[in-house]
Amino acid sequence: MGIEENIRSLKEDIAKIAEKVKRNPEEIKIVAVSKTVEVERIKEALRCGIKIIGENKVQEAEEKFRQIPEKFEKHLVGHLQTNKVKKAIGLFDMIQSLDSLKLANEISKRALESGKVMKVLVEVNTSEEETKFGIKPDEVLDFVKSTSELKGIKVKGLMTVGLFTSEVEKVRPCFKRLKEIFERIKSKNILGIDMKYLSMGMTADYKVAIEEGSNMLRIGTAIFGERKG
Ligand SMILES: *Cc1c(COP(=O)(O)O)cnc(C)c1O
Repeated sequence: MGIEENIRSLKEDIAKIAEKVKRNPEEIKIVAVSKTVEVERIKEALRCGIKIIGENKVQEAEEKFRQIPEKFEKHLVGHLQTNKVKKAIGLFDMIQSLDSLKLANEISKRALESGKVMKVLVEVNTSEEETKFGIKPDEVLDFVKSTSELKGIKVKGLMTVGLFTSEVEKVRPCFKRLKEIFERIKSKNILGIDMKYLSMGMTADYKVAIEEGSNMLRIGTAIFGERKG
C-alpha cells in the first residue's frame, strides 16, 4: 500500500476505535515518525494531510528538514544528549523525550539564550524496563514540579513508549498508568505546567492507547511501511 492509502486507512481506524470508546477522533493527533524514511516520502505524507513529523535523531532530522520547505510541526521523539540540545532547539517545535533534570536545565538554558520557550513532554518509563529511558512513574510528579520553575521550557504533557511485546494487551497497564499520572498532575494545577498532551501508542499498540485515553499517537510503520535495517 502507498502512503496516501496508509494514512487514509489509519485515520479510518482511529475514528472507528475512538467512536467505540465514545471519544472524538478529532482530539487525537498523529505524529508521523519518519526515522530512516527518505525526504520524498515525508513530503508525500505532508501532501496527504500529515501535520506533525517526528524524528528520533537530531542529526538525521537536521539533514532531512532542510530539504523540506513545507511548513509542518517538528517533534523530537528519541533520547536527547545534552551536547545536542542547542541544535535540537533550533530544529524542533517540541521535545517529547525529556527524561532527566540535567537535560531539563540544559534545554531551558539554551532555549532562553535563543529567545525561545521550548515545549516538552516528560518521558515516563511506564514499563520500568532497565533499558528504557524515562522518569520512573513514582517520581513524575516531583519531576514536573521541579521543571515548572525553569523559564525556558514549557511542559505540555507526558509521553511513554509502552512495553515491547508481541502481546499487545500487556501494554495496557503501562498506558493506564500514564493516564492516571497525567490526570493526577493535571488536577494539581501546577503553575506553569500545561497537561495537554498524552503521547502514547505506536503502530503495534495505538488501538489500546486510544482506548486508554491517548491524544497523540506516534506512528511510523503504519504510515511509511516497514523500516529497512
Ligand atoms: C520509531 C518510533 C515510533 C514509531 O514506531 P512504529 O512502531 O513504526 O509506529 C514511535 N515512538 C518512538 C519513540 C519511536 O522511536
